[in-house]
Parts: sequence; C-alpha cells; structure tokens
Amino acid sequence: MRTVVPITSQELSFVVAPKTIDGRSVLDLSRKLIQIPSVYGKETAIAEFIHSWMDENGFSPREIDVPEHGPDIVASFGSKSNPKIVLTGHMDTVEVMNGWQHDPFGAVVEDGLLYGLGSLDMKCGLAAMMLAFRRLAESDLADHAHVCFQAVSGEERLGDGTRKLIESGELDGASAVIVGEGFGGLKVATIGRRGGSYYDIDVQGVSSHGAIPHRGVNAIEDASRVITAISDMPMSKTGGVLSDELRPLSESQTVLRISGGSWSLSVPEKCSIRVVRCTIPGGKVDISDEFVSVIDSLGLKSKVSLRLNTDPKELYYPYMTPPNSPLVQAASRVLKRIVGTEPTLVCGVSEADDNLIAHALKIPTICMGPGETGNLARYHQPEEAISVAQLGPAANAYYELVRELISGS
Ligand SMILES: [Zn+2]
Repeated sequence: MRTVVPITSQELSFVVAPKTIDGRSVLDLSRKLIQIPSVYGKETAIAEFIHSWMDENGFSPREIDVPEHGPDIVASFGSKSNPKIVLTGHMDTVEVMNGWQHDPFGAVVEDGLLYGLGSLDMKCGLAAMMLAFRRLAESDLADHAHVCFQAVSGEERLGDGTRKLIESGELDGASAVIVGEGFGGLKVATIGRRGGSYYDIDVQGVSSHGAIPHRGVNAIEDASRVITAISDMPMSKTGGVLSDELRPLSESQTVLRISGGSWSLSVPEKCSIRVVRCTIPGGKVDISDEFVSVIDSLGLKSKVSLRLNTDPKELYYPYMTPPNSPLVQAASRVLKRIVGTEPTLVCGVSEADDNLIAHALKIPTICMGPGETGNLARYHQPEEAISVAQLGPAANAYYELVRELISGS
C-alpha cells in the first residue's frame, strides 16, 4: 500500500487536451469508479454511483436487473427517429490478484500512471464514455441524435449483463455500437474478435485387472493418442488480418482439461477431454466432422464420442466489422486526428461482450478506448495501471466518433 500522491500541475499540463473534454475531468471520474470495488457479482455500489451521476446530470437512467450481479444502468437522449448509437462498457472487474503493491482501490497517480483494479479493464474507458455522453447531450448535434449509454455488469463472468440487455431489447435497432475496451490504447481499434467453441470428447475403454492390462483397453492411453492427433490438426489463418498481439490472426486449439483414471488396480475404462477451439471470422465454428475423421483414422480400440457444447453461454461466434464500413472508417479518421497516426485495425484473440452484440444482432461494432501494450498491458494482473495522458484524448475520441456518425461526415 502506498499513500496518495497529489497530481502536480506539470503532470496535468499534458492531460488537458485542447479539445472539448479535458483530461482532468476524466481522471477525476475514473478515480471515483476505481475507488468503488466492483468485482464481478458485486456491482451494486458502482451501479448506484453511475445511476446517481446520470440523474444529477439530467438524464433519466433506468436499471435492468441482472441475476447474481448488480443491475445494468442505461441512459439515452435524443429522438428515437434518429439512428441509434450505443456507447457501452462494463463496470465489473476481476478479483484482486496476489502481487499488488499499490492499493487496488486507492486510484493513486504516480509518474503519470493511474493505478487501480479496473484502470485498464475498463473503468477509465467507462468514465471517458460517461463524459463524452454528457458532452454530446449538451452539443449542437443533440437534436439530430439518439445516443444510448450502457454500463453493464457481469462481463467478466460470461457477459451476463450484456446478455440481459440483448434479451431485453436494449440494443435493438442500433446502427453502431462502440465498446469501451481499449486493448492496445488509442493507436489501435479492435474491429473483430475470434470466437470460442468447446468440445467434450469421451473415451470409453474396457476395464481389466491392472496386472493383466492386455485384456483391457486403456482409456487414458487412447485419450493421449487423441490429444496428440488433434494437436497436429492444421490451424487456418486469415490473410492480412492482425490479431491484438500484432501477429497474423490464426485459429488456435487448446486441451483445457483431461479427467479419468482408476483408484483400484484396474485398467481405466473412462477418460474425458475438453478442448477449446478459437475460431477466426469467416471460419467454421462447428468442426465436429473434422475431429471425428482425425479420431477415426487412429483406429483406436476405445469407443470415442465427441460433442460440441451448444450452451449459448459457452459458444461465442467470431465477428468482423468490415474495415470499409462507415463505423470503422469514422473511427479511423477520428483516432488519426487525435493520436496523429492511422490506427492499427486488429481482431481480438479473446472473446468479449462485443462478440455477443455483433453476432446476435448483426450490428456494426467496434472496441476502442484507453489501454496499454507491452509491459504495461497488465490486464487481469496485479499493479494494473494506465497512463493518465490518454484519458482526455479517449473521451474526445468517443465524442468525435459519435458526432461523425450522427453527421455522417
Ligand atoms: Zn474488459
């Protein structure tokens, strides 16, 4: 734990961008959000704070109940006859990991970095969105707009809050969705994500006395042959698309779990394997037939059965918003104006709330916001921190992007 270090005016001089929303206000609001613990499942206090903030700023926020979580908070302004633009971000964080030296809820600024649980993922993005939303409502374009703000819970646990908003129709009719996840910071825009499909493979052998194993069929040994064979399966790549690790985007496959065995001196007759296959935009989500033909070619004595887990909470579809779509083009223009360089367009390797929105509702979706790369990319890690300098520019990027979408320029 460290004591709070006051921010000097020198540090702030580069925070205050010569734009509409100053960095100081984004920093102040970000710190307030970080100081309210909101580990997934315990989002009620932060939801109340955001509800009151929206209230005090003249909006009429609504709460959408999310079982086992704090409520989602939604607010909007403008006329429903205008194209609906959604700004959305999650309020919850992961749990406090071992290894924090700063107070994870202290929101201390040190050497230009704001430390705290959720600083990267994604309370600063949320604060920047709230201020952009308020500024938009005050702007000359407000009459031509229909802008919705959504603060969701449960993102870190299967996207419960966003699933609820989709179910309740809160995203229906949206023409563009901007998610405040800023992996990579403002030099990057995430325009797609891989999906994830989970397979369960059951290997059924034949038991026999462990001292005379040739009379049985060892399910664990056959399962290990299955694992080796599926590990050698080819992984498709997407030509020309970069992942958020700035490498060519490819499928991947991982054995997550293996269970089976025998406690007595018997040849194990059962073994189960769980595999996750991360799929690329445009790729095949259900490759059960390919798994089956690889496994069949092994000629195992065990019986092997395979099934794709179709529980909607465990099946994420990949998506990609086309780079030439009006949303991505507008975001690129805005980020270039604010940061000075054309943003790198990437496809996220991990699934998130935007998979749900883009797949279920087929709405153009993009993720952008304050974030870090390299050693500072401490997402889901202790000592999570974000450079204060990008908070003002992030709020302005949201503000300007929505303006461009409204005015269609
Ligand atoms: Zn996040």
